[in-house]
Order: sequence, then C-alpha cells, then structure tokens
Amino acid sequence: MGIQAAEISAILKDQIQNFGQEAEVAEIGRVLSVGDGIARVYGLDNVQAGEMVEFPGGIMGMALNLESDNVGVVIFGSDRDIKEGDTVKRTNSIVDVPIGNELLGRVVDGLGNPIDGKGPINATQRGVADVKAPGIIPRKSVHEPMSTGLKSVDAMIPIGRGQRELIIGDRQTGKTAVALDTILNQKSVNEAAGDDESKKLYCVYVAVGQKRSTVAQLVKRLEESGAIDYSIVVAATASDPAPMQFLAPYAATAMAEFFRDNGRHALIIYDDLSKQAVSYRQMSLLLRRPPGREAYPGDVFYLHSRLLERSAKLNEDFGAGSLTALPVIETQGGDVSAFIPTNVISITDGQIFLETELFYQGIRPAVNTGLSVSRVGSSAQTNSMKSVAGPVKLELAQYREMAAFAQFGSDLDAATQQLLNRGARLTELMKQPQYSPLTNAEIVCVIFAGTNGYLDKIDVKDVGRYEAGLLAHLRGKHADLLDWITNDDPKIKGDASDRIKAALDEYAATFA
Ligand code: ATP
Ligand code: MG
Repeated sequence: MGIQAAEISAILKDQIQNFGQEAEVAEIGRVLSVGDGIARVYGLDNVQAGEMVEFPGGIMGMALNLESDNVGVVIFGSDRDIKEGDTVKRTNSIVDVPIGNELLGRVVDGLGNPIDGKGPINATQRGVADVKAPGIIPRKSVHEPMSTGLKSVDAMIPIGRGQRELIIGDRQTGKTAVALDTILNQKSVNEAAGDDESKKLYCVYVAVGQKRSTVAQLVKRLEESGAIDYSIVVAATASDPAPMQFLAPYAATAMAEFFRDNGRHALIIYDDLSKQAVSYRQMSLLLRRPPGREAYPGDVFYLHSRLLERSAKLNEDFGAGSLTALPVIETQGGDVSAFIPTNVISITDGQIFLETELFYQGIRPAVNTGLSVSRVGSSAQTNSMKSVAGPVKLELAQYREMAAFAQFGSDLDAATQQLLNRGARLTELMKQPQYSPLTNAEIVCVIFAGTNGYLDKIDVKDVGRYEAGLLAHLRGKHADLLDWITNDDPKIKGDASDRIKAALDEYAATFA
C-alpha cells in the first residue's frame, strides 16, 4: 500500500516546523503527488477556492479541494513536467480572462490565450470567469427578438434577447447547424443596425470537447461569411485537459458579459454542456468527491444553473443590455430523461428538440414542433410574426394528430383531406437549407403564403421551388413591402395582409 497524502503532509509539517519555516507555507506549497491532471499540494494555507496557482515552468492550476492537510489542484495543461516536490505559488487571483472589444474576431482557449495565430490580444480589461449572476432587481422580462433566421424557430419557437433556449438532440441532428445559422443571421441584423449599438448582437461560441477539425471548419465558415467580425470563438477541444473543458464556458461567459454590462447585446452558444459535465465528472472523481447519479458529482446542477443564470435582460437603470444563451445538450437515443438533459431542461426557458428520425426523413432543421417550446419568447415576437405564427402552429399540431390517425383509414372526408394536404405543405415549407437564414419579413411572407392557401394547389415536391421563386420575386419587386413589414411592424390583418396578398397573387400568376 502506498503512503497517503495525509501521512506525507504530517511528516512534512513536522520537518518544516523543526526548521522554523512555517510562515512560508501560507503562500507557497509543495507537490505531494501528481497524476491524471490533478496535483495534491501541501502548504498553500491561505489559498482560496477557485484561486489560480502557478507551477514551475508557468503551468497554471486551480485550487478546488481545500482539505485539512492538502489542497487538490486541477492542472490547466500537461502534468508531465510537474514532479513531486515542485514548488507551487499562489497568484492571489481567482481565475480571470481578458475581455473587451479586442477579442472580437479572435479564437481563444479557455484561459483567453489566442490560438488563431493572429498575434497577441491587447485587451486592457479582465473579467472573473465565475461571477455571481445578476439578481432580480437589475432584470427585466425579455421583449426584443433574437432572430435565428430559421423559419421553424422564429415562427414557432421564438427566442427573445436575454432568454436561455436549449438546443437538444442526439448526435448528428443539426444542433450546431442551428447555432451557426443563428450567428450567420446576425450579419443582416447588424448591418441593418448600422451604428446603433442597442440593436446589434455580438456572438460568442464556446466549443467544449469537440474535434479540432470541427471547430476549424466552423471558424472558416465564420471567416468566409464575415461573421467573425462580431464573434468570439472559445475552444477547449477534446484533446485539451478536462479542467480547460470545464472552465471554457465560464471564461466565455465573462467575455460575453462585457457586452451585456455595457448596454449592448450578446449571444452565447455552449456547444455542448454534456461534454462540460463529463469533464467536470472526471475532475470530481479524480479529486475523490463522492459520485452521485450517473456518477456525476452532486453539484453538477449548480454548475449549469450558475452558468446559465448569467444570461439576462437588464433593465434601463443597468444599461438595458442583454445576454442570450443557446446551450446545446447531446442526448443518447433520444432519451431526454437522463440526468444532465433533465437538469438543463429545467434551468432553461424552453428547448428546441431535434430528432434523428425527422433528420433522416429530410425534414431539416429536424425540429420536433410538438416537443419544442419557448416559454417567454413570444413576448419578443413582432406583431406581424405573431399573426402568422398562430395559424401555422395550430395547423401543424392538427396535422400531426391527423397524420398518425389517417394511416389506418383510406376514406377520409373532405375536411380531413384538406387538413392533411395543408399540413404536408407546411411541413415542406418549414425545411430550410444550412447557411441561408431569412429575414423576419421574408419569413412572415413565406408563412403567410402557406397558411393562406397559396400552396394548396401546388405539388408538395414543388414547394421548395415555389418558395425560392417567391423570395426572389419579393426581394426584386417588393423590397418596399419587406422594409415596411420590418419597420412598421403592422398587424397583418388589414392593410399589410392586403399588400402581401397582392404580391402573392402577382407571383402566383407567374409560377408554373
Ligand atoms: P454533433 O453531434 O456531431 O455535434 P450536430 O448535432 O451538431 O452533430 P451538425 O454538425 O450541425 O449536427 O449537423 C450534422 C450534419 O447535418 C452536417 O453535415 C450538416 O451539414 C448537416 N445539416 C445540418 N443542418 C442541415 C440542414 N438544415 N440542411 C441540410 N443539412 C444539414
Ligand atoms: Mg455539433
């Protein structure tokens, strides 16, 4: 049997006392044992929980377990160069990262160090990675839309600035695609906003435990589209040590909070939190914290809730900024009742549920409109969007109910037949290719066509062609109508609906 850390501590303490060096152990310590990214350190008597400590060679660590005879430190980097007996120094600072405008357009690791080869980041400010979320007083309920540019999401599962909406689904169901399209969509939003900071939206994307190649592809896509200019990418990939994967979402939130606290708007995407939970479980088990359900430590709920609580809409007295969160969770075999998925579902304000079956049927984005909800977002929808969203939700719900039932019978009455026809076309209309977000006004017109019977006479297979043609027609000939819907935000009933109808009739005459 090996010697326990406690026994070594006792011997060391004895010897140090004999030499009268007691004062020193308050600020520095010695490595007792090291392995699996964890170091047990003797000394560091004054260290705080969550404080950064420094090993020889500039390797950083974070003190997590403060025990009576030793300190458990997780190491941000390789533990190979750390040896038993090495000196560990306190830094007197809780983990903090650079924040500010300087980070826009950059790719950084979980500690804010640049990893894109574009030189140093000369940020003048720093933010603490793990701070307390804003309380109740500075907050306000969400009321401004955070458009994703996706028809199915913006119409049926609307997201408001300051909301937390979970993207959940099995592997390879298009979770990242929804998040990425949302970032790309902000290009038109930010261009329309001009210099008006109160309308712009900055994006922070945190990759946790993904392949480097996947992250590189995403960054390339952001660069090509110019979306990187208003975005920050924080990457802790699968090959990074578990502490980095655990820390990256906190660090990224600190970077996003800079915008929220300066009266601006930011969006943060955690891709994904299941992997962060796994890295936290690894750290906790190695630190010998007791395992709980599914071997996760008991405080894994607290881990995610204190992270997501930092997303908020602030009121005017606090600058009226906002931070919207789109956490991503990967399920196994569609099981949303596992520990981590249920936790995050209960913390967020709704979920976008993506399904493998729909994905393979070609319904992409594979949003299950029955199980997806947004609990607060509809108060942020524009009036025109609200008036088209109501009917489409209802018709799709009726369609789902009927479609399952109609499989058994062949002689359907005319009303049911009509409902099935409409539903099939609306389902087809909700499909959307990647990297082609639509503006709010475009979505309003397209869905208006679907719910007002313009598609009923068209073959289901022609719906995509109809939509593409319609968009070209509207952009070419009716730009003023689109502008009007965007700016005036009228009730569709009455004047606007007449104008949309006129444009649709004009297009219908040309469509063959
Ligand atoms: P992972 O679990 O690996 O992270 P994911 O759920 O994030 O996967 P994505 O990587 O976003 O899924 O998408 C999986 C594949 O589906 C990708 O090849 C992507 O290009 C494709 N895809 C996603 N959305 C669409 C879409 N709307 N239309 C067509 N293809 C899509
Ligand atoms: Mg993904």
